[in-house]
Amino acid sequence: MTAKVKILKERCKGCGLCVLACPKQNLSLGKKFNASGYAYAKAGDDCIGCGFCAELCPDIAIRVFKAEKQAASAKK
Ligand code: SF4
Ligand code: SF4
Repeated sequence: MTAKVKILKERCKGCGLCVLACPKQNLSLGKKFNASGYAYAKAGDDCIGCGFCAELCPDIAIRVFKAEKQAASAKK
């Protein structure tokens, strides 16, 4: 795992755009519902930190955390 993704479940509306965007099939729609009644997305452990899901999410419900080393080398 080179990165980690966190779904802010109370912001998620279960649209599934992030699921379609992920090149690693690391995201899926779960079977649990948030307080608004939406089945929110959940993440696995196979994230590469590309950020496609976070860019696409219309509800800004995804945070991507990259590993320290990777973030440092990306700046060079
Ligand atoms: S950052 Fe990229 S690899 Fe990670 S969950 Fe989002 S789309 Fe998938
Ligand atoms: S794109 Fe955003 S709102 Fe849609 S399922 Fe993914 S996290 Fe939820």
